[in-house]
Amino acid sequence: MSSDIYQPPEDIVSRTLTTKDQYDALYAQSVNDPEGFWKEQAKRIDWMKEPTKIKNTTFEYPDVSIKWFEDGELNVSVNCIDRHLKDRADETAIIWEGDEPDTDEHITYAQLHRRVCRFANVLKELGVKKGDRVTIYLPMIPEAAYAMLACTRIGAVHSVVFGGFSPEALAGRINDCDSAVVITADEGRRGGKTVPLKANVDEALKHAHGVEKVLVVENTGNDIKMKGGRDVWWHEAANGIDEFCKPERMNAEDPLFILYTSGSTGTPKGVLHTTGGYLVYASLTHEVTFDYRQGDIYWCTADVGWVTGHSYILYGPLANGATTLMFEGVPNYPDASRFWQVCDKHKVNIFYTAPTAIRALMGAGDKYVEGADLSSLRILGTVGEPINPEAWEWYNKHVGRGKCAIVDTWWQTETGGFMITPLPGATPTKPGSATKPFYGVQPEILDQEGKVQTETETEGVLCIKDSWPGQMRTVYGDHKRFVSTYFETYKGYYFSGDGCRRDKDGYYWITGRVDDVLNVSGHRMGTAEIESALVAHDKVSEAAVVGYPHDVKGQGVYCYVTLMTGEEPSDELKKELRNWVRKEIGPIASPDLIQFAPGLPKTRSGKIMRRILRKVAENDFGSLGDTSTLADPSVVDDLIENRENR
Ligand code: ATP
Ligand code: MG
Repeated sequence: MSSDIYQPPEDIVSRTLTTKDQYDALYAQSVNDPEGFWKEQAKRIDWMKEPTKIKNTTFEYPDVSIKWFEDGELNVSVNCIDRHLKDRADETAIIWEGDEPDTDEHITYAQLHRRVCRFANVLKELGVKKGDRVTIYLPMIPEAAYAMLACTRIGAVHSVVFGGFSPEALAGRINDCDSAVVITADEGRRGGKTVPLKANVDEALKHAHGVEKVLVVENTGNDIKMKGGRDVWWHEAANGIDEFCKPERMNAEDPLFILYTSGSTGTPKGVLHTTGGYLVYASLTHEVTFDYRQGDIYWCTADVGWVTGHSYILYGPLANGATTLMFEGVPNYPDASRFWQVCDKHKVNIFYTAPTAIRALMGAGDKYVEGADLSSLRILGTVGEPINPEAWEWYNKHVGRGKCAIVDTWWQTETGGFMITPLPGATPTKPGSATKPFYGVQPEILDQEGKVQTETETEGVLCIKDSWPGQMRTVYGDHKRFVSTYFETYKGYYFSGDGCRRDKDGYYWITGRVDDVLNVSGHRMGTAEIESALVAHDKVSEAAVVGYPHDVKGQGVYCYVTLMTGEEPSDELKKELRNWVRKEIGPIASPDLIQFAPGLPKTRSGKIMRRILRKVAENDFGSLGDTSTLADPSVVDDLIENRENR
C-alpha cells in the first residue's frame, strides 16, 4: 500500500475549525469522560426538554442496551428547519439539480418550512400517527426531503427504499416494517431514462398486504394508473391544506427511522435509529469532518435511499443550517463531466462521493475533468468501500488539483455517522487509509479468537469498544438478530464485520469484509490490497478479488478485472497483470486466475458484491443467495459464461 503522507493543505489549516492539537485534546476527553463530552455536544441541538441523563449503554452479551440522552425531548424537523428561520429564512436550504443539466431549483429555509408542514398535514389527514411506519419510494426530488422531514415533524418512522429497487425488494421492506402508507411518484428520472415508480409500487402491493394509502407525487406527468380508495395524488390532498403543523414532542429514544442495509453480505437488516443521539451525532460529524462553515455549498452525491443520504444530505447538513445540494441524476449523464459541471455551476465547496464513482470517472478518461474550473472546491470526501490509493491520487490531483483536503470516511448504516475519518485541518492523510477515529469512537483490532491486539502495528477484525450516540439501537422487529449479528462473536464489543490493519502511526486501513479475507498458503490477505494493486496498473479501471478452493494453497486468488475504456483483453495482458501484482505486493498474492469482466455485480449503492463473485469462482451457481439488491442482474450471466476454468 502507498506509504505517502499528505499534510493538510496550508490554506485549510489556516482557517480550520479543528487543529491537530484541538483534535487530540477533544478526542482524549471524549473517551476519558464521555458523559461530560456528550453533555456539552448535546447543546448543539435545540431541546424541548434538555436531557439530564447522558449515557446509559451496555455491550454485555446478551443484555445489549443502548440509550443516549434518554430523558431529553426534541423534534428533528424543528432542529433542521424552524430554528434557522430567525436568521436565515431566505437563505437556501436545498439546491436541487435535476437529471437534465438545465433544471434546478433553490429552496429557502422559509419555503422548506411551509412545504414540510403541508406534507406533514397531508400525512395526518391520511391517518398517520406518531410511531407509524411510512415507506418512502421516491426519486431524488425535493419531495423526498419534504416527506422525510414531514415524518419527523409528526413522529412517524420513515423507511426510505431506494428508487432503483425492484417491486420484490420494495414489497419485502414494506412487509418487514409493516407500513400502512407508501409515498411514491408517478415516475423518476435517471440518466435520461424514466423509472416506473408507481407501477413498481402497484406490483409490490400484490405481495404487501397492509398498505392502506399510497400518496403519489406528480413528477414526470406521464400517465399512470390510480387505484380508487387507495391511491391519492399529493397535489390534490395538499390543496388548501394548512401551512403550519405543530411539531410533535419526541423522546430522545423514540424511533426516528428504519433503513435497510445495502445487502452486500446477506439479507438486508432493518437498522433502527432513534431521535436524539442520531441527530447530535449526524450534525457534529458533518460539521467537524467537512470543516463546514456557514455559507458553504455542500454536495453529497448519494441517494437519500442510503444512510449517507439520510445523515449527510439531509439531517446533518440541515441541522447545521447548511445549503445542501440534492442531485437527481447520475455521474455520466449527459457525459462523464456532469459532476464537475455541477460543481462549477453551483460553486460547490465541499464534495462527497463514493469510490465506485471515482473509479468510473477515472476510467472514462481525464479529458472530462480537465475542462472544469473546480476552484470552489475545498474538501473532498469518499465513502462506501475502501478507496484504492490509485483512485485517491486521481481524486486528489484531477479533482482537488492538489489543494483540497480529502476525507476518507469509514462508517456504516449501523453507525449513523462517521467513525474513522481524517479531519481536514488536523489529520495528515495517507491514500487508502481512513486514518483516525472520530470523537468518542474507540476502535479495537481483535484476532480471530477474540483477543484484543495491543501492539500498534497489527491486523484483524475491527470492533468498537464502547457506544457512541449515533449507534443503531436494534434491528427492527428482531432484537435477537441485532444482538447476535453485532455482539455475539466478540463479547463486549460491537463487531463491524470489516477487516482492518493498523500501521505504526496508528492509522486504520479497512481491508474489506472479514468474510472476504483470503488465506493463501497460510497467509491472510485482505482483498482490498490485491484490488488496489490491480487498479494501480494503467490499463485497469476496476478489479474485484475473491478466493476459491485450491488443492495446494488452500485458497487461490481469483481476480475479476475491468479494463479502461479502449483497452483490449489478451493472454499477454493477463501475464502482465500477474507479474505486476507479484511486483507490487509479492509472489504470495500472485493471481491464479484472471477473468476480464466488462461489468462487476454491484449493489444499487455501487458496492461490489463479492459473495456472488465468490460463488462464480467456486463454480457454484445454484445458490447465488439474495440478488434482489443487485443493480444489474445480467452482469452475473456474463460472468458465469466467461468464467476462468481451472
Ligand atoms: P450489508 O450490511 O447488508 O452487507 P453494506 O455493509 O454494504 O450492506 P452499508 O452500511 O451501506 O451496507 O456499508 C457499510 C460498509 O461499507 C462498511 O462495513 C465497509 O465495509 C464499507 N465502507 C464504507 N465506507 C468505507 C470506507 N471509507 N473505507 C472502507 N470501507 C468502507
Ligand atoms: Mg454491512
